[in-house]
Amino acid sequence: MSKNHERIHIDEKNLCNLCVSELESIYAELKLTESELEILSMPRRIVTVQFPVRLSNGSTHMFIGHRVQFNDARGPSKGGIRFHPDLKVDHVSDLAFLMSLKCAVVDIPFGGAKGGVVVNPKEVSRGELELITRAYTREIADFIGPFKDIPAPDVYTDEKVMVWILDEYEHLMREHAPAAVTGKPVGLGGLKVRTYSTSLGGIYVLEEALKKEGMKKSEVRVAIQGFGNVGENAARILHERGYTITAVSNSKGGIIKQNGLNIPEVIKYKRTEGRLEDFDTAENISNEELLVSDCDVLVPAALSDQIDQFNADNIKAKIVLELANAPTTTVADIMLFDRSVRVIPDVLANAGGVAGSYLEWIQNLSNDYWEDNRVADRLRSIMISAFNDVYATCEQDASTMRKAAFKIAIKRILDAERLRGNL
Ligand code: NAD
Repeated sequence: MSKNHERIHIDEKNLCNLCVSELESIYAELKLTESELEILSMPRRIVTVQFPVRLSNGSTHMFIGHRVQFNDARGPSKGGIRFHPDLKVDHVSDLAFLMSLKCAVVDIPFGGAKGGVVVNPKEVSRGELELITRAYTREIADFIGPFKDIPAPDVYTDEKVMVWILDEYEHLMREHAPAAVTGKPVGLGGLKVRTYSTSLGGIYVLEEALKKEGMKKSEVRVAIQGFGNVGENAARILHERGYTITAVSNSKGGIIKQNGLNIPEVIKYKRTEGRLEDFDTAENISNEELLVSDCDVLVPAALSDQIDQFNADNIKAKIVLELANAPTTTVADIMLFDRSVRVIPDVLANAGGVAGSYLEWIQNLSNDYWEDNRVADRLRSIMISAFNDVYATCEQDASTMRKAAFKIAIKRILDAERLRGNL
């Protein structure tokens, strides 16, 4: 292995192990030069800031924040900002690299970034969180902006946090700049479709995969793990489009009904009861049972590492749509491929999130706001075109879709570097 591979530092959880093993074989297959490897291995900019914030008890705490811009050859950097007590710059860097790949897979003109603050949002008040967010924004303001690097929500950050970032940034720049941040509320230039674009984008891709497999909508039974933003919206949209949702679950447990759950009623039930279990005539099941339940499409939409070497051989679905990040371990990925189960990888399946952000950014820049249908149509064409590119490569190489997606992304990034004269 080249020393350059070691610089990728993709070492946290399966998300990263999976990438490392895929990337090693792709780099070898693509016969990358040392210069190409070096460009792909090193983030362009790592900003670490340390700043004081007065807390409500009168004490002052020094907070640490990071922003990593991994590769911006294809356009301004794009990526989430997370608040987490265990945030480490190396992991932020890995995630920034993955964002570079994800944007390249769906061919949107962005590079990849990630950032965040070392803080446990559950241990500070909302007012303190605002002070922390605004202070962090002041520290990184020179490095972000509509044509430099555009933050978005991530783990433990939401549209309110995005508003604080935007407001602070605009005060510093002395001008309105809605395109500086995505994932904003609709009243400040956000898009309604963005709130469910991850799920909708995944469903567009799924429908293309179903066509390739010759599977008819009326016969497709779907099981969904996770009933948060992504899982619930996926269930709602699939149900509206006429699919049978046989099982859903959240952290407390799940429910199954082989002839189909009434999803609007399940959503109402979850809102009022705060759980899914004991819903109507459905049977209760565990998350483990959901994963191996009788279905045609399995949608992991919760956590990483859910499909592993212990359950991969028992998965009955013909298609796995990875709306969660890294739900399949490296070993399980190979086991599923060997059994001809088609895994639509996270880097494609959940890229509707960043594609939705791209559409928000375009509209903010042009100040021209489209009807929801037009947004959805554009999202559809981005996702279908990405699916077709990945599918063609994976058929040609007889490889997994994950490998095909990474290969396409790496080629696109290196092409941009070549056009710039860096290679
Ligand atoms: P969320 O916090 O809104 O929902 C997570 C869901 O997972 C909840 O229903 C929770 O109860 C459930 N869950 C937690 N532990 C579980 C367990 N052990 N078994 C089953 N379910 C469990 O999060 P989200 O925004 O819906 O994100 C879900 C996944 O999608 C994550 O992997 C996230 O990284 C990925 N993702 C989200 C977006 C987005 O736009 N929100 C974009 C790309 C990727």
